[in-house]
Amino acid sequence: MNMDLFGIKKRKAALEAAKLREEKILIKVKEEYKILKARADAKYSESYNNARQRQNDHDNKCPKCSSTNVNDRIQRLQGEFSGSISGSRSLFSGSLYGHSSGKIDTNEVNKCNDCGNEWKKYEMHHSYPSEILEMYFQQLVWLMEGYKEALEATIDKNDLDEPYSSSEEKRKALLDKIPVSYRYKDTLPWFEGISIEAVKEIALKEIWKDSYDSYHRDKLDEAWDEPFLINYMNLKHIVI
Ligand SMILES: [Zn+2]
Repeated sequence: MNMDLFGIKKRKAALEAAKLREEKILIKVKEEYKILKARADAKYSESYNNARQRQNDHDNKCPKCSSTNVNDRIQRLQGEFSGSISGSRSLFSGSLYGHSSGKIDTNEVNKCNDCGNEWKKYEMHHSYPSEILEMYFQQLVWLMEGYKEALEATIDKNDLDEPYSSSEEKRKALLDKIPVSYRYKDTLPWFEGISIEAVKEIALKEIWKDSYDSYHRDKLDEAWDEPFLINYMNLKHIVI
């Protein structure tokens, strides 16, 4: 007697196997997410340290006479507060802010004690790891769009300004341009060793999880159906 007359056991087993596979993929995705977060942390430390170094060089040495006998103008001004400052004290923050009549913000000035030179303080700009992560995903989607556009390019024979004589030539030229024309040239290496599944899961569940990110989600989805794109991205599927 057939113990699985309607194939129920078989189907159940197949479902279980699929579920198990999904769970295993999710574990891999989580591992790769950790790798990407560690890369973002490393990038953050690197750019933060560089910015601190530039800040040091900029604020502690007079650009005019190279003296290191420098102090913060704000400290000096605070000492003579009743005198010449045309800013006002904010009721809310208690801090002094300059006004906008072309005067330098007193908070942002260094003064050289040797030659009297004054110059603006270095403005620290750096992105946090989460922003760095987001930026790389953004770059990846732009790259995907670039590749897609290049691979689908055709020439317009009626356009007198068309610089290419065949669509093949145009595609090749556009593809060659891509790696050098993007601002963050380390985008593809940055995703090295990361799988398609991980990029997709992280992008959808973490990077662009909110509804206003639907544009990016759609772009990612669109690009996903193109196997050649994945090749250019150098991404691999998780094999379980
Ligand atoms: Zn000086």
